[in-house]
Amino acid sequence: MAPKAIAVIGGGITGLSAAFHLSKRFPRAQITIFERSNRIGGWINSRHVKVSDGSGHNATICLEAGPRTLRPNSKAMLELINQLHLQTAIISTPTTSPAARNRFIQIPGREGLTALPSSPLSFLRSPFLSSLIALPAAKEMFLNSNRRSPEDESVDEFMSRRFGDRFARIMGSALVHGIYAADSRVLSVRAAFPTLWDAEERGKGSVVRGFLRKRSSTSTPLQAYDVGDLSERMKGVSAFSFRGGMETLPHALATNVRAKQNVTIRSGVSIAGLRFLEEQPDAELELEGGETLKFSHVVSTVSLPKLQSITSQTGALPHMTNNPMSTVTVVNIIFPPTKAPIHPAGFGYLIPRPEGGYGSEANASGFLGTVFDSCALAAQDSGDAGFTKLTVMMGGPHKLDRHQSDPSHVLSHLAQHLGSSDALPEPAFYEAREQVDCIPTPTVGHVQRMSELLAVLRDPAGPWKGRLEVIGAGVGGVSVGDCVEAGRNAGSAWN
Ligand SMILES: Cc1cc2nc3c(=O)[nH]c(=O)nc-3n(C[C@H](O)[C@H](O)[C@H](O)COP(=O)(O)OP(=O)(O)OC[C@H]3O[C@@H](n4cnc5c(N)ncnc54)[C@H](O)[C@@H]3O)c2cc1C
Repeated sequence: MAPKAIAVIGGGITGLSAAFHLSKRFPRAQITIFERSNRIGGWINSRHVKVSDGSGHNATICLEAGPRTLRPNSKAMLELINQLHLQTAIISTPTTSPAARNRFIQIPGREGLTALPSSPLSFLRSPFLSSLIALPAAKEMFLNSNRRSPEDESVDEFMSRRFGDRFARIMGSALVHGIYAADSRVLSVRAAFPTLWDAEERGKGSVVRGFLRKRSSTSTPLQAYDVGDLSERMKGVSAFSFRGGMETLPHALATNVRAKQNVTIRSGVSIAGLRFLEEQPDAELELEGGETLKFSHVVSTVSLPKLQSITSQTGALPHMTNNPMSTVTVVNIIFPPTKAPIHPAGFGYLIPRPEGGYGSEANASGFLGTVFDSCALAAQDSGDAGFTKLTVMMGGPHKLDRHQSDPSHVLSHLAQHLGSSDALPEPAFYEAREQVDCIPTPTVGHVQRMSELLAVLRDPAGPWKGRLEVIGAGVGGVSVGDCVEAGRNAGSAWN
């Protein structure tokens, strides 16, 4: 049955993308987005602050408390930008720029930052990098196929098996800190890095051989996505954002859907219950405060544990609580103009899991990494040049004490990581925000569990009558592009 009335729970990027696409797929259905907070956009949260250095220099700087950059490989994202006419709002980082080429790691116990290789020549210059990356990669090509589980394993197990324990601990854990703020020993490689898993299969046991071998094209052809000339424009782009910050995207989406006859956004309204009753075709949505509304179909974009708590009256949805959520402290810092640069030109640095584990002294800072925002995103700022904005990400598997986000703690560790012999200047702006349960960690077996969940949801004779879709960062990938894609596919089985 074609939907008549669709409720979308959650007004983050997944919910907004879902409403945008559902309104086109089902022009006759009434679509209502319910968002608990008065703000639309979920974890996407940009703002502009005015800063001054006390010597006559002033600027307005854009800061992000959530995602800050997008990758150009998401066709669903490019399509959305094209359809929302946001092309002129884009600011991009070319692949040739220092912000794309220069990435660093800070190895606990080693002085300053270590530049990751940007060309094969870098290995010749650094015996440390050769032994950490080049040698394990070269050996891997000749290592016999040694996959232990045909189903899944952790990122750490996968990398240890193919590239050795040292590579897995340093490179694998740092990568996972940068994307998931999680422990690579519990994160599913199939869910988080499917390209690695697939490359091992394509390379008949070797990941490196798999990447060197041409991939057979099984993905949907590009014509299916209405990307305009963005595919062409994104050639040579490593990452991008928007002049007005990431919130440009949810704002444009909200404006677009509000202008449609068949979409309503109800913000400041929390969903307390969702029931599918045997004797009624429609779903019952209970708002906090007691009001009850009926919908023929529902799309949930909230976290899986949250969904479990609101659906408990209908029955148990499987696999709602297998994945922990990471809590991240995001520290936005702006330094006044200085004679010498605060940090080297580059994207930023990540810190691997210390050899002694998360509780050990070696990473008492609690840092996961630091992003050098001024390098890639200075075009978002106005006023006098020379201010340096950067973001320290802390927490995740490091359990932080309250004092660890204090300026004195953060700035002294930052100075140590940057190899500054002098103390850093007094910041013109400093703010630490604890983002509780903000990134789900898909643990080993996630892909299989989500296909079992889908089978239960899609069963027309089951308790959910094939009328509930569960999407969002907790189900598919966590990147904003993945969330937009999930929204694009919402309701595709309801025709
Ligand atoms: C610090 C940080 C940095 C990140 N960096 C990047 C990055 O650089 N690039 C990238 O691609 N991705 C990044 N991500 C990931 C990405 O931002 C998120 O995965 C994505 O924004 C999640 O969107 P969502 O709509 O699925 O969920 P959410 O943003 O969580 O939206 C869900 C919405 O549901 C609402 N809600 C919850 N319960 C209810 C209820 N009962 N009733 C009604 N509404 C409810 C919430 O208020 C929320 O607005 C980052 C994430 C974080 C936290």
